[in-house]
Amino acid sequence: MEVLVAEPAGVCYGVRRALEIVESEVRKGRKIVTLGPLIHNPQAVKRLEEKGVRVVNGIEEMCGGAIVMPSHGAPKAVRETAERAGLQVIDATCPFVAKVHRVARKLAEHGYEVVVIGDPGHSEVKGILSAAGENAVVVSSTNDVEKHNWAAKKVGIVCQTTQTPEHFGEIVGLIAMRAAEVVAHNTICYATHDRQSAARNLAPKVDAMFVVGGRNSANTNRLAEICRESGVRTYHIETADEIDPQAIKDCRIVGLTAGASTPDWVIDEVKARLEAL
Ligand code: SF4
Repeated sequence: MEVLVAEPAGVCYGVRRALEIVESEVRKGRKIVTLGPLIHNPQAVKRLEEKGVRVVNGIEEMCGGAIVMPSHGAPKAVRETAERAGLQVIDATCPFVAKVHRVARKLAEHGYEVVVIGDPGHSEVKGILSAAGENAVVVSSTNDVEKHNWAAKKVGIVCQTTQTPEHFGEIVGLIAMRAAEVVAHNTICYATHDRQSAARNLAPKVDAMFVVGGRNSANTNRLAEICRESGVRTYHIETADEIDPQAIKDCRIVGLTAGASTPDWVIDEVKARLEAL
């Protein structure tokens, strides 16, 4: 059975960088704590825990030590609280996310009402909002656009890095028709988009698709949906142990893709297991 791996698949630049930062601190013997799981992958989080990296849900759970800000960033208040509590802050914010913070801050300084296109419940969006300050709102849908009075306003728009270009364009267009002045910065990171395109291209060419990644990972779930939409038999798994040999005994070619938070070693184990069947 041949195994074809989508290209690209697996960890994106920002997640790889965050993992490397934490692992390098661990090698130095530093006691590290992450605010929430560093990435949405239970196997990677477990492996980090085995190396002594603890997960906390709030600063109040800590007494001294070093805390890592995750790749999707954190609100300014969280960092300030950590610093006030005397903790060492290690910043693993992805440079693409940090750029959105800078753009939002600059727009606010220049008197724009800042619009963040994205999911209001997502930590990345909360971080961008806090960088923009008081005069900032989140718009997640075309319905949200109607809820605001844009007339006579100077509006500066940025977006959550994982939004689609189509959604960004649609919202910007609607606000541009209503506001006095609009400046829009496309702050999309194409890592998610590129993984989805690669999975969409590969799925019709194989007898079954394996999508590897945390069940708590939104982008992995979306990859599985995309594969299913193409009509191919799709298995969303977290580890090689979950592969059922019976399910693929009639397959000649299987495809493999993985979410942007799935480490290389997990993908390698799945690939090796499939090749061994
Ligand atoms: S998806 Fe893009 S912005 Fe988000 S962590 Fe990965 S590289 Fe950075």
